[in-house]
Amino acid sequence: MHCHTVFSDGTCTPEQMMDQAIQAGLAGVAITDHDTSQGWTQARQAACKRRFSLILGTEITADEQGISVHVLAYGYDRSNTALAELFTSTRQARLDRAHHMVDLISCDYPITWQDVLAQVKEGERTTVGRPHIADALIAAGIYKNRSEAFAGVCSSHSQYYLPTPSPSTELVVQTVKAAGGVAVIAHPGAIGRNAVLLSDEHISRLAHLGLDGLEVWHRDNPPEQRERLLELAGQLDLLVTGGSDWHGKGKPNRLGEYTTSPTVVETIIARSSQGQNSLNEQ
Ligand code: AMP
Ligand code: ZN
Ligand code: FE
Ligand code: FE
Repeated sequence: MHCHTVFSDGTCTPEQMMDQAIQAGLAGVAITDHDTSQGWTQARQAACKRRFSLILGTEITADEQGISVHVLAYGYDRSNTALAELFTSTRQARLDRAHHMVDLISCDYPITWQDVLAQVKEGERTTVGRPHIADALIAAGIYKNRSEAFAGVCSSHSQYYLPTPSPSTELVVQTVKAAGGVAVIAHPGAIGRNAVLLSDEHISRLAHLGLDGLEVWHRDNPPEQRERLLELAGQLDLLVTGGSDWHGKGKPNRLGEYTTSPTVVETIIARSSQGQNSLNEQ
């Protein structure tokens, strides 16, 4: 329920994702590239051809008073203009921010903005991020892999780091809900990503705005956070999901290392406007 392809910072195409999901013995797979639905068409074609279950989604970048929050949005109406505008502005902000970071990095390391763009697989259809800067540094021989680059120049603690200006979590959840989607907070307990996490009160406020679930089963949520999130999900009647946050060769995360129960997947499909449309068509 949480996979990245070449349409953001994953290294595989939607077709390759599907083939690997089938090989891993999964019942289905979700495409959730950062701030875009550009990969959906290819993913849908690949799923049809293989008769394999596919959930269409996006991992949306948000900000909460300096806390970086990711919202997984499933099954929303792609023609919704508010959501499309939100993606356009975040993608532009990401480009400007990456370009600025590269200006700073290039004072000390032999990479240019062109070197970064050379790592972007689908041109303007790809959402650009730090992993593409990491790939340029790898190509220049500075690092062996993305993990090394993220421990160095690409780290959020590095002197070159700049945050991506992003919409508030409230706005993202409300926009996803208005577009008929299902909203799940990705890796809400990932203490490695943020010095401060979303508080119980904050998650409770989001739940009252229509938040659907929490991605509890994720490698970056430590055991005590999983416990806290499970309890919170019970209290607030939120869905509990699991996701691999698979990035192909871009991260050690294995496809299917964390999964979501079939019942929860069915609920997500039934709640989304896409799910309702497909029911109407039957
Ligand atoms: P950005 O969205 O541009 O801030 O970049 C963050 C992205 O980089 C996230 O989607 C992560 O999946 C990815 N990332 C973070 N840490 C690592 C790492 N150690 N190795 C590879 N990718 C990473
Ligand atoms: Zn990513
Ligand atoms: Fe994320
Ligand atoms: Fe992700």
